[in-house]
Amino acid sequence: MRPIKTLLLNNIIDIKPILEAKKKPNVVITTHHKPDADALGSSLGLSLLLKQIGIDATVITPTDYGDFLKWMSGEDTVINFEFNQKKSKEIVSKADLVFCLDFNALKRINEFGEIVRLSSAKKVMIDHHLQPDGFEDYRLWSNIASSTCELIYWFAEELSYTHLINKDIASCLYAGIMTDTAGFKHSSTTPTTHRVTAHLLEKGAKSNLIFEAIYDHYSENRTRFIGFCLNEKLQIIREYNTALVCVTADELKRFNIKVGDSEGLVNYGLSIEGIKLSVLIVDRTVARKMSFRAKGDFPANEFARKYFNGGGHFSAAGGESKEPLEEVEATFKQAITEYSNILSQ
Ligand code: 5GP
Ligand code: MN
Repeated sequence: MRPIKTLLLNNIIDIKPILEAKKKPNVVITTHHKPDADALGSSLGLSLLLKQIGIDATVITPTDYGDFLKWMSGEDTVINFEFNQKKSKEIVSKADLVFCLDFNALKRINEFGEIVRLSSAKKVMIDHHLQPDGFEDYRLWSNIASSTCELIYWFAEELSYTHLINKDIASCLYAGIMTDTAGFKHSSTTPTTHRVTAHLLEKGAKSNLIFEAIYDHYSENRTRFIGFCLNEKLQIIREYNTALVCVTADELKRFNIKVGDSEGLVNYGLSIEGIKLSVLIVDRTVARKMSFRAKGDFPANEFARKYFNGGGHFSAAGGESKEPLEEVEATFKQAITEYSNILSQ
């Protein structure tokens, strides 16, 4: 179970002596903004693992995250940079190591990224997205890993820590693998993913309870909001086999939509027969945030990069725009015409 050996440039093993030195290093763990289950699960899973070797790491998230993640062990110790800027800066300034999980470019974590960049701490990047920008000193990167949580397991394996994985760690890691693979459905789910997952179950992760904690935790508002979007906002552009939902700032307010509530909405469009591209555009006031999900040959990440200052995976990507919602919608409708050879067939 050691695909890591075949990965180029991964020098993660070199941090073992730092972690095991007599004088324990000060460790910060951070992840991308609006953390999902993979981002928070990998951060808390790693922090609990480091605790087992006597290191008290601090998890700092650039922003808040959804309530559906608040069952994770250690969640109550997470520092939210948005609300604790001074404290976060102080902690980073004293850090020897900053782990950056589930993202690979510091610009992805906005203002907090600059603080991390300027700190004298060594940076460790553990991630599975394309095109790492190379800011790190140590890396464990693979775009064939299903999730960053799977990579944390590889990390444990590489540093000979798997025997330290307990039920709490296993539950955090299981959550991220389950959600990033959409319940072991995506093609990123490999035999290794299943072997890792099997081990996490043996360590005590309860698949049914984790599923319920994450997916059966929506507010009534959120459920009505999804219904509203599917009934009244869904546009089907048959010529390009594309599904589109645009959500205005007023609608977010009307349904009292919180961080994480629009998660998953973009997948509905893709479940319609024949649809090859599904897009969600949400007016988050500061910017228009876009989510892209595709099937087949449509390069969602290339598209997001080219038109919407974004990126991501081949079939699941995101981006954003400062233009008004109507203009973003128009730009999108124009942009897909460039891909008619892939979308229109
Ligand atoms: P989501 O649609 O769930 O927000 O994002 C799907 C994937 O797209 C994420 O895993 C992430 O890799 C990527 N992504 C989302 N938003 C952005 C963005 O603004 N810039 C870049 N480079 N990637 C993004
Ligand atoms: Mn991920």
